[in-house]
Amino acid sequence: MDMNIGVIKGDGIGPEIVEEAMKVLDQVAKVYGHTISYTQLLMGGASIDVAGVPLTEATLAAAKASDAVLMGSIGGDAKTSPWYQLEPSRRPEAGLLQLRKGLNLFANLRPAVLYEELKGACPLKEEIADRGFDLMIMRELTGGLYFGKRSTEEIDGVVTAKDELTYNENEIRRIARRGFDIAMKRRKKVTSVDKANVLDSSRLWRKIVEEVAADYPEVELEHMLVDNCAMQLVKDPAQFDVILTENMFGDILSDEASMVTGSIGMLASASLNDTKFGLYEPSGGSAPDIAGQGIANPIATILSAAMMLRFSFDLDKEADAIEAAVAAVLKDGYRTIDIMSDGRKQIGTAEMGDRICSYIK
Ligand code: NAD
Repeated sequence: MDMNIGVIKGDGIGPEIVEEAMKVLDQVAKVYGHTISYTQLLMGGASIDVAGVPLTEATLAAAKASDAVLMGSIGGDAKTSPWYQLEPSRRPEAGLLQLRKGLNLFANLRPAVLYEELKGACPLKEEIADRGFDLMIMRELTGGLYFGKRSTEEIDGVVTAKDELTYNENEIRRIARRGFDIAMKRRKKVTSVDKANVLDSSRLWRKIVEEVAADYPEVELEHMLVDNCAMQLVKDPAQFDVILTENMFGDILSDEASMVTGSIGMLASASLNDTKFGLYEPSGGSAPDIAGQGIANPIATILSAAMMLRFSFDLDKEADAIEAAVAAVLKDGYRTIDIMSDGRKQIGTAEMGDRICSYIK
């Protein structure tokens, strides 16, 4: 297969971790007979330095023209970086929002996996961590409370703030379809999370999800209220496969799920639209505190590249190979500084990339 991948190396540790993900993609291409062409794009702080804005029209157009985009994190140290002297709409993070909007990325996928070898980092009780977990949060990203009308006004002498929560059936249907498609590639279970005992938008959510489920008879569907889901994630995360939910619930639950794995340098993410296109990036930030030292953990970015192969190119075997290589390197005891523990071997960013490649044969 020929793959045309846009690459945004980003700021801070971005260039270091993306370099390793490209190394792993090149190894996959060599072993499985694919061709990859990369188009380097600037976004965030790196774009401000060159073009004065965090995202140019040209970058957006080039991102649209690629099959998928692999991105490192963007942004700098808010206290010391000159980027944060600019008005908010010109800062690095504004570029990310513009990019997501420009590419119509309405579905955000965040896996939370507890690796056997990293159980010690899990903050949950030992008997829960021992069961392990491998779940995927599918969050709606462009609707709901964060995109509704808002206002603050004085009503009868009392200052009152309003935020509107709106979902229409089409917005729900397209994210639900994405959720069920992804469940078909996994363990075929969807937990749809809402607050249908209170909210009209949740009752519509539940109805449309039921309708979509009818097209996926192999997938088991359950509904769960968001407050219960927040509890179940710390009580028994192994019960979940795909958690499908709206924007704000997904924002909160995905952070909760990532914390229970205990290691931010391990967490991949993907944002998808209604084509095969996706933007793939680590869940963590640009870690300016350790940038340029060659010690950042590249695994989240490497696993994001695996998600790219799986979701944008349908290359499941190749994605499996990357995930198995990551698990094997951890089993051999190699660790970057953020996941280091007693008796393990500490290695840097580039060596981690090399070792992962060595398992892809
Ligand atoms: P951060 O995730 O960058 O760092 C938090 C801590 O985790 C730091 O101690 C850092 O060293 C560590 N860390 C993060 N990723 C790591 C990795 N791969 N390997 C080893 N250690 C790692 O969060 P922050 O400090 O709050 O934010 C720094 C910058 O990143 C800010 O400018 C913020 O806006 C930006 N940010 C960008 C994104 C994105 O690009 N999507 C997401 C979050 C934050």
